[in-house]
Amino acid sequence: MDIENGRIFSIKRMLACLVIAMGLICPGISQAFKVYVFTDMEGCSGVTGSEQIGGARADEGKRLMAEDMNACIAGCFAAGATEVVVRDGHGGGTNVDPKLIDARAKLIQGPTPGVRFKDLDGAEALILLGYHAMALTPGGVLAHSYSSAAIQGMWLNGREVGEIGVDAAIALEHKVPVVMVSGDDKVAAEARAWVPGVITCETKKGTGPQSAELVPIEESHALIKRKTEEALAKRKEIRLIEVKYPATMRWDYLPKGSLRTHNPDFKPVEDPRRVEKSGDSVEKLLIGK
Ligand SMILES: [Zn+2]
Repeated sequence: MDIENGRIFSIKRMLACLVIAMGLICPGISQAFKVYVFTDMEGCSGVTGSEQIGGARADEGKRLMAEDMNACIAGCFAAGATEVVVRDGHGGGTNVDPKLIDARAKLIQGPTPGVRFKDLDGAEALILLGYHAMALTPGGVLAHSYSSAAIQGMWLNGREVGEIGVDAAIALEHKVPVVMVSGDDKVAAEARAWVPGVITCETKKGTGPQSAELVPIEESHALIKRKTEEALAKRKEIRLIEVKYPATMRWDYLPKGSLRTHNPDFKPVEDPRRVEKSGDSVEKLLIGK
């Protein structure tokens, strides 16, 4: 009986050791994780001018955007991601031809009212792909803050902010860290200032609002894949940004103003076209009425 118990005990111990050893040898085992890739167009490889993002060369811009998405999706799966959601996030959100997108990823297109990142919940990491610097950034390629036609500047809790800071705050509200930002060197610097530890991927050096020194396209795609893998390997070390709530957003609208400059919920500050509003969600402040 004692001998029998001893045998069972040693078999159990052997099995326990095997499980521990498997975990050490294959740390990826049973670590399913989801990645969300929000894609804008201005910071994509090869994009420099407004004619590519909605003008005479729009088809070229759309193709370049699809190629950056695929480079990033490839990096996500190479890093061990088990689910990748990719959002077409430029303009109306129907830029890329779905046929051109890596079928392993789920593509989201079109409007998603009231939600900045549809299906973000449950993701372990958010990648902001093809982004641009905030409005009026010197040397920032196609720099703007959400609307080049309406917004001249934005502030979050008194600090001047662009899409990187606001989107990182929205991601914080869903407990998802921004792990990588791609675009020109100006948005890369802005990203590092807002998200400590974020991995940045420079697809071009901005030299003006519509000029850049471009990384050769194939090299840029390889860089996106490599930086995506690097960022996802570090996803547990990259922290959420810190935002004090209630948060206050302030907008400087262009002289013609906006619906918000006529809305009593948005308080004018110093100037009728400079308005602000406070609340417990940056996402609601950005998108809510
Ligand atoms: Zn855009």
